[in-house]
Amino acid sequence: MVGNYSMIRKIKEYAKKENIPIMVDDGIDFLTTFILKKHVSSVLEIGTAIGYSAIMMAMVDPNIRVTTIERDEKRYLEALKNVKEFELEDRITLIYNDALNVRLEEKFDLIFIDAAKAQSIKFFEQFEHNLNDGGAIVTDNLKFHGLVAKKEEEIKSRNLRGLVRKIKNYISFLEENKKYDTEFFDVGDGISVSIKK
Ligand code: SAM
Repeated sequence: MVGNYSMIRKIKEYAKKENIPIMVDDGIDFLTTFILKKHVSSVLEIGTAIGYSAIMMAMVDPNIRVTTIERDEKRYLEALKNVKEFELEDRITLIYNDALNVRLEEKFDLIFIDAAKAQSIKFFEQFEHNLNDGGAIVTDNLKFHGLVAKKEEEIKSRNLRGLVRKIKNYISFLEENKKYDTEFFDVGDGISVSIKK
């Protein structure tokens, strides 16, 4: 366990040094507690980065399996290395591809969307058929570092304004989606949990 703790610290330090966005501590606590409480045993993650959240989710319980998708080769290779170091190759499946090109048959208890923030609706619609009845779709970064709460004119960059608009559209999409009960949590960078009715 001490070994695991220092390996996790190493992954977090690497992410910081290389400027790779990974879940913040209270976000990952929320996610792993949710997994534990809801007895989640299978997870599909969109956006592996270097495998940090996939490893943290798999470590909640030895019965949990995670499939995770990453389109950036360097990050995918780093995730592969990290998953091997944790000896989780039999429980974490890494897919190197753009998630929008991936079609899966398998069903999961939890789908965790943590990839390109402008494309969350697409990811949701593409993978919702992979969700078990009663399963949950969880999305991170709905506050987008506080920018979503700001007035548009306060955001100087045009690109960022566009991105924030898309995150707001995604929030409305979740609120209006009658097939799911969605709750929003002011934890980490803003997390939604959508439970399939
Ligand atoms: N879930 C990771 C964690 O907390 O450890 C962090 C993921 S990071 C916020 C988002 C990742 O999604 C990036 O590494 C990015 O390359 C990847 N990504 C973005 N769009 C993607 C897509 N369409 N398909 C696959 N990966 C994508």
